[in-house]
Amino acid sequence: MTGNAYDIIVIGAGPAGMTAAIYARRASKTVLVLEALSYGGQIINTPDIENYPVAAHISGFDFATKVYEQAKGLGAEFKFEKALQIRDGELKTVVTPKAEYSAKAVIIATGSQNRKLGLENEQKLTGRGVSYCATCDGAFFRGKPVAVVGGGNTALEDALYLADIASIVYLIHRRDSFRGDNGTVERLKQRENVRFVYDSVVTGLNADNRLESIEITNKSGEKTTLDVNGLFVAVGRIPENQSFADLINLDGAGYAKAGENCRTKTAGIFVAGDNRTKEVRQLVTATADGAVAAAEAINYINS
Ligand code: NAP
Repeated sequence: MTGNAYDIIVIGAGPAGMTAAIYARRASKTVLVLEALSYGGQIINTPDIENYPVAAHISGFDFATKVYEQAKGLGAEFKFEKALQIRDGELKTVVTPKAEYSAKAVIIATGSQNRKLGLENEQKLTGRGVSYCATCDGAFFRGKPVAVVGGGNTALEDALYLADIASIVYLIHRRDSFRGDNGTVERLKQRENVRFVYDSVVTGLNADNRLESIEITNKSGEKTTLDVNGLFVAVGRIPENQSFADLINLDGAGYAKAGENCRTKTAGIFVAGDNRTKEVRQLVTATADGAVAAAEAINYINS
């Protein structure tokens, strides 16, 4: 720490935040990384990363652990406390339930959380058949029927992963064409136990103690019941920016408006990773953001 304040506080220990910490430490800046849950962010749910340069095959958890160890090894301090608020001033103050921390610059790398379907007993059944992470929970459904809802790459990859485990995988999408990669769709079409359910949404969860079946409703309003023990919800993510909305501009979907330089409307506050407005949200773009945001924060501190 410099006096009582850090040079940089990074909020979020996902790939973007931890990369920012690495870059800041390599520039000899003091760094505190605040993380609400555990390090790694969304990438820890990916079983096999195939599209990150050099790391042709590495699990998301192993990747995150290596980045965490690298950042810690370089001297970044980690505290597992949720950042509730940032107060602007000569120094920025980040408030957590336990304490207040000050820094010359703050990088918000909070990523995003799972979007829910909004069904009545969705929360109650989470962990009892409803899941937001196929790679975390898929193994509980070996030989059983499951459904995946969503039409993006997450839903497609979840369905492919589950096809190796479950007896049958219904892939339910609200339209008749997928947002995710066509190549993955083609791979799914090769699987005998994958059934495509188009133009339909999940409208009910039927359970006693655990999920037993789901009600789906198609565009014509017809309702069908599918007997499934697992429902994997993969309908996108919501950026975690609301707590800081007074200091950063958000777009209509809640992403922090910032260009490639990761600057926000508040001097000394930067955003990096999936919670920033951008065209491509990938591991490689998140880590790139971390580097850019750190460089910008270092320039800001030194200027
Ligand atoms: P996404 O691309 O935003 O897709 C969300 C899907 O959920 C869309 O198909 C959307 O339908 C549907 N949806 C949204 N709200 C819904 C609701 N209330 N009910 C039913 N369906 C709903 O999200 P994602 O799949 O999580 O992917 C997020 C980002 O990560 C994307 O950029 C994706 O390419 C990337 N990603 C990449 C990889 C990879 O490269 N290996 C893997 C996973 C994710 P509509 O299509 O009709 O809007």
